[in-house]
Formats: sequence, structure tokens, C-alpha cells
Amino acid sequence: MKRIGVLTSGGDSPGMNAAIRAVVRKGIYHNLEVYGIYYGYAGLMAGDIKKMELGSVGDIIHRGGTMLYTARSEEFKTLEGQKKGIEQLNKFGIEGLVVIGGDGSFRGAQKLTEHGFPTIGVPGTIDNDIPGTDFTIGFDTALNTVIDAIDKIRDTATSHERTYVVEVMGRHAGDLALWSGLADGAETIVIPEADYEMSDVIARLKRGQDRGKKHSIIVVAEGVGSGFEFGERIKKEMNLETRVTVLGHIQRGGSPTAFDRVLASRLGAKAVDHLLTGKAGITVGIEKNELVYHDIDEALSRKHTIDLGMYTLSQELSI
Ligand code: ADP
Repeated sequence: MKRIGVLTSGGDSPGMNAAIRAVVRKGIYHNLEVYGIYYGYAGLMAGDIKKMELGSVGDIIHRGGTMLYTARSEEFKTLEGQKKGIEQLNKFGIEGLVVIGGDGSFRGAQKLTEHGFPTIGVPGTIDNDIPGTDFTIGFDTALNTVIDAIDKIRDTATSHERTYVVEVMGRHAGDLALWSGLADGAETIVIPEADYEMSDVIARLKRGQDRGKKHSIIVVAEGVGSGFEFGERIKKEMNLETRVTVLGHIQRGGSPTAFDRVLASRLGAKAVDHLLTGKAGITVGIEKNELVYHDIDEALSRKHTIDLGMYTLSQELSI
């Protein structure tokens, strides 16, 4: 293998730049030519592809977002779109591809693999919802952003003796809500992976009130429903002054944490190693602090799970 490509696709996450840097630098270290593909699969089909040098990825390790930009493309979900992409890869003489993104992007990588093009997936998403890795690139940074926001909300919640509902990202996964709720001592955490009874939420709030608590924080994962609806229900049932904050896209941005930079560097470099040893159609990940890889079909067929023990713990600590 002489020439490889790298792209970022789908939702951006902090640390993607560190992963791009690792792919480019590790590739060049092994005397490969590395091509950057701009705007994800859309740019791949359009041939928006440029050769990267060592300096192309200078001064990006600490930046959020992705210097290769990202996009979503419906066309790439079609066979014609995928063929267009492979034509471009062939035109540029690219023999292997690293795709940094979430599970949607991995489905694109799976298609390229099925068409015989060696592709490796590197998990980059703030949702932490990709099977085959304990952590995805960007989760830790997003988690710290959420915690910073909740700490600030807590100050005003205490001053005004209010109940706050904080809606955090996570369409199908409650990781951000669970970890931030546990890290911030939230009274209640509402996640898609665990059933909840409104009566329990209310009882918990009442117990807090009775022992003189000045504020309550409830963290709701967006996958469970709207934070505003949740806030309305609490207001109605308890006659409590309730405020709702939807954190939104601030969770996606910012300088990546040390953890995400290191994870991204390890996973990006490992993807290049795997391409060089002839592996393809795999995703890389980290399990119990060991770098691992899984067949992409197998990874995508598995369901992401969370540690329900952590959920129970959060309830035990906020009685
Ligand atoms: P993420 O990677 O963050 O989960 P998306 O789900 O939006 O983001 O997926 C990113 C892109 O991956 C899509 O816009 C599309 O181009 C490509 N993709 C998603 N699913 C498929 C699929 N089944 N086949 C081919 N490409 C896909």
C-alpha cells in the first residue's frame, strides 16, 4: 500500500482533528502518501481530495471541529453514490481509507468494504454510542462541557431555590446524561436505556425538599423526550418553580480534553497500522484501555449498552 485517504463524516466531535493528525503523521512515518478528503462522503464523490503533508496537520491537535470539514450525504447511501466514491479513490490511486465518524459513517465504510475497497472506521462522536469501544473520540470533552454548564446552572439554582431540568445530547444513548448526572450529583437522570416513573422523580424531589435542599438538578437525555415537556410536568405536579436548559450544540465544540487527544492519536495511528497489515472492514476501539478492533459488520450489528450499575449508583447516591 502506497497511498491512503482520510475523511471525517456525520456529526463532528472534538478530537477529530487529533485523529486526522495521527493518520497523516503515522502514514507519512511509514512512507505512505496520505490524502485528505474534504466534506465527508459528499466530498469523496465530488473528488474534493488533496495530498496532505506533515505541516498540513500542524497546530490542529488542540482544536475542536474537523479541519477536513464534514457533511451528510443521502446520495452516498445509494449504489451509484458509492460507485462514484470508489471511482474517485481509484482516480487518485488511493488504496485504503480511514473514516472518522459515528455509526452512520460506519455504514458508509461498510458499503465501501462490501464493494472491495479497504476501509477502516475510527469512532468519533460525542454520543459514545458505538459498539466495540468503551469510549468514542469527543465523548470526554462533551462530558466536561456539560459538567461545566451544570456547575454554573447549580449556582443559580441554589440562589433562587429552583429545580432545573437540563437536556443533554444523546439521541439513542444516555451516556452523556448518565456520566454528567453522576459527576454532578443530579437528583434524577433520565436516559433511554432505563425506564422511569414520573412518580419516582416526584418522590425524589419531595424528599430533597423535605430535608431542606435548596435546588434540584434533573438531567434528561434528548432521546427520552423534550426537556421542556419534562419541566412542564414537574411544574404541574409539584407546583415547583422549574427552569429548563437545553444545552444544544455547545456540547459539540471546544478544545478536546487530554483524554480525547490521546485516544484520537492512538486510534488514528492504529487504523494506519491495520491498513498496512492488510486488514480492512474493521473498526478500531479501546476496551479496558487496550486497543482493539472488530469486524465492521459485527460492530454494527451489536447494540450499544450502558453500565446500568452506574445508573443504580446515581440513584443510590441521590436518595
Ligand atoms: P454519524 O456518522 O455521525 O452517525 P450520519 O448518521 O449522519 O452521522 O451518517 C453520516 C453519513 O454516512 C451519511 O450522511 C451518509 O452519507 C453515510 N451513511 C449513513 N448510512 C449509510 C448507509 N446505510 N449506506 C451508505 N452510507 C451511509
